[in-house]
Parts: sequence; C-alpha cells; structure tokens
Amino acid sequence: MTDSDVVIVGGGITGAAAAVALAGAGARVTLLDRQAPPAPAASGAPLDLRVSAIHAAAAAWLTHLGAWPLVPASHRSPFGSIQVWDAGSRGRIGFDSADLGQPWLGHIVENRALVAALHARLAALPTARLRAPARLEHWRTDEHGVHLRLEDGSHLHARLLVGADGADSPLRLGAGIASHDTPYGQCAVVCNVGTERPHDAIARQRFLANGPLAFLPLADGRSAVVWSTTTDAATRLAALPEAQFAQELEAAFEGRLGAVTTVGERAVLPLRGRLAERYVGPRLALLGDAAHVVHPMAGLGANLGLGDAAQLARIVSDALRAGRDPGAADGLLRYQRARRAQNLPVVQAIGALHRLFGATAAPLRALRGAGLRLTDHAAPLKRALTAAACGLDDTAFDH
Ligand SMILES: Cc1cc2nc3c(=O)[nH]c(=O)nc-3n(C[C@H](O)[C@H](O)[C@H](O)COP(=O)(O)OP(=O)(O)OC[C@H]3O[C@@H](n4cnc5c(N)ncnc54)[C@H](O)[C@@H]3O)c2cc1C
Repeated sequence: MTDSDVVIVGGGITGAAAAVALAGAGARVTLLDRQAPPAPAASGAPLDLRVSAIHAAAAAWLTHLGAWPLVPASHRSPFGSIQVWDAGSRGRIGFDSADLGQPWLGHIVENRALVAALHARLAALPTARLRAPARLEHWRTDEHGVHLRLEDGSHLHARLLVGADGADSPLRLGAGIASHDTPYGQCAVVCNVGTERPHDAIARQRFLANGPLAFLPLADGRSAVVWSTTTDAATRLAALPEAQFAQELEAAFEGRLGAVTTVGERAVLPLRGRLAERYVGPRLALLGDAAHVVHPMAGLGANLGLGDAAQLARIVSDALRAGRDPGAADGLLRYQRARRAQNLPVVQAIGALHRLFGATAAPLRALRGAGLRLTDHAAPLKRALTAAACGLDDTAFDH
C-alpha cells in the first residue's frame, strides 16, 4: 500500500500542472495516467498540430511553478493582438496587449511540449510520484481516505482523489456526477499551414456561417489553423487534395495572410460543450475538461483547467500546512464555489456567442455587427475584455 496526500488521475495539462503545484508545496502526490508522458520537446523539432492559446496569467503561474521555461521557445509563440471579424456582417473587434501595458496577451503553445515540460518539472520534485502507463481499476472512499486498486494489482491510499481525466472522465462517471451536454454539431479541422505573408504575432479569427476559423501564430512562422464547421463539411475538408484545401482555406480567410503555401497533416476533432453538475464529491475534486468542456472559439479550455489546478492546489496545500484533512468537505466546497463563479460566466458567454454567430437571420446579423463595432469603440468595456483575454480577471493565478 502506497500512501499519498493526493492521487491525481490524468496527467494532461491540467492534472500535471496540479501535481507540480501540489508537490512544489510539499504535498505527497501520485500522478497516474494510462499513457506514458510525451518526451521533452527538442528545440526546433517539428510542431504537433494540437496547440493551445495559453493566456498571460496562466503562463505567469506556470513560470512560477518552474515549468514554463522548460517549453522550448521554438514551441511557444507570443501574440500581442487578437483580431476578430464576422463574415455575415461588417462587425469586427481587435484586442491589443498595449492597451493594458502588457508585452503580450498570451502564447500559442504546443500541447505536447507543455505537458512534457510539466512532467519534467514534476520529476524533479521529491514528494511526487508518477505511475504511467497505469490504469485505475477500482476505488472506494471512507472517512479515512480513498483506497485505489490499479490494474497491475497494486494498491494506493490517499486523502484526496483528483479527476483530471478529460472530457469523458471515468472518475466523474464513477462518482455518479451528471453533466449537461451541448452538442454543437461541429468538428474542428486542425493543421499547421505556411502563408505568403507573415502572421506578425497576431491571433486572427473569422466567424463564418458554420463556425469560426482561426489562424494562430506559431514560432516557426507558420499558423495553426482551427476551422470549426459542421461535421460533414469538416470530413470533406480533411479529405480534399492539399492544393484544393489550401485554396478553400485561403478563400474562407479572405486571404488575410495571402496565399496558403504549405499544408501540414490534417486532423478532425469533434467539438462539444459539457458541464459537470458538481466539481466535487466525497474526497473527490474534478479539474479541467473533466469538469467543463467549452468550444475552442475563445481559446479558454486549458486556461480554465489551469485556473482550477491553481485554486485546488492552494486550498489543499493550505490545509496540509495547517495540519487539516486535505480531502475535507469544507475545502472541496470552497474550491467548487470559487471555480464555478469563475468558469460558469465563461461557459455561458461562449454558448451565447456560439448561438449569436450561428444565427443567419438578417436582423440578428446586423445586431451582432453593430455590437462588435460598438464594443470595439467602447474603451472601458474593451479594456475589461482584453484583461479577461489575458486571464487577469482570474484570481486563482495570483501568487
Ligand atoms: C480544436 C481545439 C482547440 C483548442 N484550443 C484551445 C486554446 O487555444 N486554448 C485553450 O485554453 N484551450 C484550448 N482547447 C481546449 C484544451 O485543449 C483542453 O481544455 C485541455 O487540453 C484539457 O486538458 P485536461 O488536462 O483537462 O484534459 P486532457 O487533455 O483530456 O487530459 C486527460 C488525461 O487523462 C488521461 N486519462 C483519461 N482517462 C484515464 C484513465 N481512466 N486512467 C488514467 N488516465 C486517464 C489521458 O491519458 C490524458 O492524459 C482546445 C480544444 C480543442 C478541441
């Protein structure tokens, strides 16, 4: 039997960050994943096609944890502005880090490199243990703690179990926590492309009738494309010959970066919204996609998960320092209250944007065009939105 203060199931961005934050504060942490972690990214190695926009506040927290500097510069690309425009109206809006006196709004980071950096940092922390690949077979909770049995027959004991096991979270399902699903009926076609003109460290997104199309700046000069559209259209786009795909992509993006000159491997990812009814259960906390899945249009899913990790790590390490039970209900309820207050408005706003930009009726299109233009000219509102894009409104990252 191996004893830990906390067992975390899921070593993706969220679970690995929580493990580093907890072990960095001295907690005995076991991190378990069904897959071995990715190898550290070699400087200049080819970029994978899964990337995330990590905002400035989350990056500052990851720097504080010692993980951010382990992501090679070739695998993270800063962006100072965001430009958004609407194909169905004359609406457009821009956000600039200079409005807040910040050097940048965030970075486009290769997911794999960030996960590898977090695992490399974790390996240097004496109270952390990684079990991967490993599968949880059974777990039960009593007043003393959580008892876990792994598929290889070994047993673990902890005082808190953390589910960072992704959108289909087996822990959430095992705990009987229901979720509300939003079937967007969309998929994202993702790929990295070269363009005739430089991206100038600007993240761009055009709202099309079937969903948003984003070009995100990569450190190697290419752009990461996230093209959300109907499932049928995504399947068709992914199967097109390269030259035809490049042409359709360029047209859909109004040639903002000139011709699309190279097209990397393409993948189709299903999109859905999902919100767990509760983030906590007896001696259980859910983090990241296990608790909430949002449409990628706002580039916030991983950022919300990192905020969860920061908040939970603070509550649990405070409890341990004070000699209290880290799995006690009062601490878990404080975690749930804080994170729901932060995450719910974001989830609701993304749902509303999805409906608004999906609307084809002329009056609604005119309204959203006017709304975007007005917001673009309303300095205080724009500053507040820019601060949110930087994550400055999420107090979980204060350190
Ligand atoms: C197209 C697209 C673009 C996106 N862009 C952005 C963006 O720009 N910015 C942003 O912030 N977010 C973005 N997101 C969202 C972001 O990718 C996710 O929110 C984030 O990766 C979730 O991380 P996670 O660690 O919570 O879950 P996951 O990444 O799903 O990790 C779960 C981990 O749990 C492990 N696991 C699962 N089940 C078990 C089990 N039974 N036992 C052991 N281990 C298990 C898995 O192996 C995995 O390692 C995007 C999403 C998509 C689809």
